[in-house]
Amino acid sequence: MKPDAIETFYSRFQQRDRVPKGELVYVDPYTLLVAVVLSAQATDTSVNKATAELFKVATTPQAMIALGEEKLRGYIKTIGLFNTKAKNVIALSQLLLSEHGGQVPTNREALERLPGVGRKTANVVMNIAFGAPTIAVDTHVFRVSNRTGLAPGKTVLDVEEKLERVTPAAYKTHAHHWLILHGRYVCTARGPKCPTCLVRDLCAWPEKTSAEGGGVSPKSSASPSRPGSANNRRRQPGRRSGPASRRG
Ligand code: SF4
Repeated sequence: MKPDAIETFYSRFQQRDRVPKGELVYVDPYTLLVAVVLSAQATDTSVNKATAELFKVATTPQAMIALGEEKLRGYIKTIGLFNTKAKNVIALSQLLLSEHGGQVPTNREALERLPGVGRKTANVVMNIAFGAPTIAVDTHVFRVSNRTGLAPGKTVLDVEEKLERVTPAAYKTHAHHWLILHGRYVCTARGPKCPTCLVRDLCAWPEKTSAEGGGVSPKSSASPSRPGSANNRRRQPGRRSGPASRRG
């Protein structure tokens, strides 16, 4: 997509929703971090349902450690991979206390050293909690970036790096939310709502639907390389993180 089209693309999202908000419920950087870790391969709705009760009893690393892994599992057992996530939340809480005075660090390196936190989770936390101009790429952002031609790439990291390069500075802070919400509700994997899409005229996807709810072959839906693929192992060493198809 050419620079003037990219400017128009983002300006339309901005005009419609100046300050977009994510859908995970949190009260501070720590609870945001916990919610994002829990949201890997789960929906924001399922995470919010669990944290509505969990955050009544634990909103600090100290309280989470006092709650303990077993009780934590009870609060999050409706979320996929809850055993691993419970371990990670307790371990990251311990590390926050031992190395960061109980505070969530603001830089990527420190965030990515926390158990259960990979590049995407770090990007989400830096962006939402600290206003950094990072653009976390989940499956929705990946799909929208590829279909539209905004930032095509074969891997999540390719797309993230391209988005970093082509997104004008004025739009970087909110780009993640605009793209993720667009992918979640309009440019869906199947049956994208092309006829009513805000950026239809700018979008390069040759398979735009002509009627709302029109079908799309699963094969034609851009999807990031699967975790564990050679590309992902090479480009995203360490832990996997962040919301999958649901959120990000
Ligand atoms: S026109 Fe269709 S494919 Fe293109 S961004 Fe809009 S919803 Fe997605």
